[in-house]
Amino acid sequence: MLQTVTAQETGEMSAFEIAQAQIDAVGDRLGVDSDLLEILKKPTRELTVNFPVKMDDGTIRVFTGYRVQYNQVLGPFKGGIRYHPDVTLEEVRALAAWMTWKCAVIGLPYGGAKGGVIVDVKELSPREIERITRRFTSEISIIIGPHKDIPAPDVYTDAQVMAWIMDTYSMIMGYSVPGVVTGKPPIIGGSSGREEATSRGVLYTTRQAAMILGLDLAKARVVIQGYGNVGYNAARLFHEEGGSKIVAVSDSRGAIRDKEGLDPLAVKAHKDETGSVAGFPGAEPITPKELLAEKADVLIPAALSGWITADNVDAVQTRIIAEGANGPTTPDADQVLFERDITVIPDILCNAGGVTVSYFEWVQSLQQFFWSLEEVKQRLEEIMVKAFDRVWEMAQEENVDMRTAAYMVAMKKIVRAYEIRGIYP
Ligand code: GLU
Repeated sequence: MLQTVTAQETGEMSAFEIAQAQIDAVGDRLGVDSDLLEILKKPTRELTVNFPVKMDDGTIRVFTGYRVQYNQVLGPFKGGIRYHPDVTLEEVRALAAWMTWKCAVIGLPYGGAKGGVIVDVKELSPREIERITRRFTSEISIIIGPHKDIPAPDVYTDAQVMAWIMDTYSMIMGYSVPGVVTGKPPIIGGSSGREEATSRGVLYTTRQAAMILGLDLAKARVVIQGYGNVGYNAARLFHEEGGSKIVAVSDSRGAIRDKEGLDPLAVKAHKDETGSVAGFPGAEPITPKELLAEKADVLIPAALSGWITADNVDAVQTRIIAEGANGPTTPDADQVLFERDITVIPDILCNAGGVTVSYFEWVQSLQQFFWSLEEVKQRLEEIMVKAFDRVWEMAQEENVDMRTAAYMVAMKKIVRAYEIRGIYP
């Protein structure tokens, strides 16, 4: 049985070194030419920007941001922008590489990119976030565009931030350019269903896995790490549409458990009011460690990367891990999960509902012709189920875990595109 990267190889590797090792391992397995692997192991373009912003108190702060355009052999660059104090160029590079495989495994006509600004939005006013967004957009406007590179929401960025990006880019161009960004509010060309799309994709892929494994989702107990856009909407959709019980959730400030099942909407209202899920009336407070070790059927990491590691993986008790976040499981933890027969639906497949509805939004923005929510849901389900089945099939055929299989499906497409396009000049 093959893992993408073995535990011995990972050691203290950074996210991007892991991403590169994954490329090597899958490339070797597929017999990809080593020259081509060298291309795939490097980002095409990286832009670092340092920009001044006037704060509410009149002082000026200089912020640093990045846009990494990883690969465009399958189409324009595509990927989110995150705002977080821990953003590094190295991490953005790994996330941009993962976007490349994500778009390829789903079959979207996009390459991969990612952006980030080093900032803690919790310390800022909405006006300051707006000014940071507008100035960052202006700095990266030289490389983005509806046919070049299309940003989207990610950690701590939302539809409002996308509206400011769209407006700033449009002001620079002198005309309205809705196709420059996805995840916009519907009033300015956003797609119905984009906000919950990532979580809806998590639900559809988990439903497929549960069906194959003989697990009844309607009786499943679900644990969710993170209660932002992905975590909250996953809780809501698994509860409302999956019929599952949400038994424990967390955010960066605390974790709670209710064995009888939490009400996702009430937990969200509590978080909106107090700033955290912690202290939700009637729920038992637990530690993040207890959350990970909760006896349940499905565990959904929906926060940052590197949560499930060799150090804590033994505590995992669920049958399925559905990766709502990007890179939540380290390769050495992956190997343990594989040996324990825990099905990991890998991030590049599991959370691809977001970029898939981004693609729908981009198509609608370019055509100025809009789809109903029903149409969005139906097309999303069709695409996610098909991609899941293809990856599952590959995993069975090759006797590998689903992450390796997903990379194999993605890399085959990328390699084929290189063969056909050739190397310029
Ligand atoms: N940030 C999301 C992701 O990591 C969505 C990207 C997009 O829609 O372009 O997949």
